[in-house]
Amino acid sequence: MKKNLVLIIFFSLKIISGQSLSAQDKNEAGWKAGVASVIITPEESMWMAGFAARTRPSEGKLHELWAKALVFEDAAGKKGLLITTDLSGIPKSISDNIRNRLEKSFNLSRSQIIFNTSHTHSGPVLQDALHALYPLNEKQKEQIRIYTIKFENQIEALVKKALGSMKPVNISTQNGITRFAVNRRNNIEAKIDAQTDLKGPSDYAVPVIRVTDKKGKVLALAFGYACHNTVLSGYEWSGDYAGYAQIEIEKAHPGTTALFFQGCGGNQNALPRKSVPLAKQYGRELALAVEAVLEGEMKELEPRLRTAYSEVNLEFEIPPGKEELNQMLAKESGYIRNWALEMIRKYEKGERILTSYPYPVQFWQMGDQSVVALGGEPVVDYAIQLKKIFGSGLFVMGYSNDVMAYIPTVDILREGGYEGHTSQMAFGLPAKWKESIEPLIMGEVLKLSKEIGITIPDSK
Ligand SMILES: [Zn+2]
Repeated sequence: MKKNLVLIIFFSLKIISGQSLSAQDKNEAGWKAGVASVIITPEESMWMAGFAARTRPSEGKLHELWAKALVFEDAAGKKGLLITTDLSGIPKSISDNIRNRLEKSFNLSRSQIIFNTSHTHSGPVLQDALHALYPLNEKQKEQIRIYTIKFENQIEALVKKALGSMKPVNISTQNGITRFAVNRRNNIEAKIDAQTDLKGPSDYAVPVIRVTDKKGKVLALAFGYACHNTVLSGYEWSGDYAGYAQIEIEKAHPGTTALFFQGCGGNQNALPRKSVPLAKQYGRELALAVEAVLEGEMKELEPRLRTAYSEVNLEFEIPPGKEELNQMLAKESGYIRNWALEMIRKYEKGERILTSYPYPVQFWQMGDQSVVALGGEPVVDYAIQLKKIFGSGLFVMGYSNDVMAYIPTVDILREGGYEGHTSQMAFGLPAKWKESIEPLIMGEVLKLSKEIGITIPDSK
């Protein structure tokens, strides 16, 4: 009997110590995260990005513009950094500068950094971004140059601050839903009020990443939507509907940082639009969709992060020759005329005309949450196709790491219009994309997913 009792005590102790050890291990070897934010609203009146129709610089603000950084670290110490910004887009030159600096200062590689822009059309113009769209004088160009230098410094300081605030956390994810995005190619904006059945496709998903500390306090809420931030087109700085959504969420959860990331909203607008009350309404709708996700069941992620990044060369069609460009000069105006003039100048100076473009594609696997981040302004059809392959739980970001152009599908290329054709001129590119664009991008995402060991689910 005595011997048995000793054995029982021995085994009980072993179980107790084993339990407490594994709980401790789990605590130490779980996720860590840090978050920080910085105001990037220009201090002076500057030219605003996104619309060619504006005729003067900014006048005041509706609310601040923000850059925010959320750093994740898995149980093995691998980090991932999500940067979100209330900006129209980020050109390659600035993104490369920033990502090079982050690699040098914090040892973060390209695969570990997702730099997303909200595509607000009420933010400042950056260096090298769509200058053909805007009638800028020399003083305004100098303002943009100075703002851009400051912005790059701010981002490095922001990431340093986020890294300095790392603590043990739990991370969970889930998709919510809201339906204010409208396919702007397949519906007529002027008739939207009278329309009773909207034509798709759209992606109404609201992906949410929740980061809580070990006491359950929400530290960060990153959320997305696939829809242009073009409700507002006035002269006051704002993050548009996404700005209002972030403000609403931070109000509802004091002490939380809300980060908005843009999805594949290339052909999606919030309609109707063009008023502050509507921007606020859509912001609240999006914030409510996030709340519904938080109130429901979320998927807790295992502390394992895998990341992959590559740039795939997308080819352009043969650009028009000088004769065709001269004919365009005679009949076109605005940005198309500016583009034709610039092409002629390049031909005359013998400057190199791009034949292809290195397009950034990225894949993250956080626990069993897959995240795809694409560059440019991808049309929603990419998100829909990727979800058919990887399942409806997939998170897809667009406008990430380099916003160089619209990213149409083969169908939209053939249809033409702004997203398929003329936007290439607004972006200062030499010609339409070749039809290989779609298989190249889809193939690259699949390649990266294999690289990090994703098995593709059977879900359709
Ligand atoms: Zn756009």
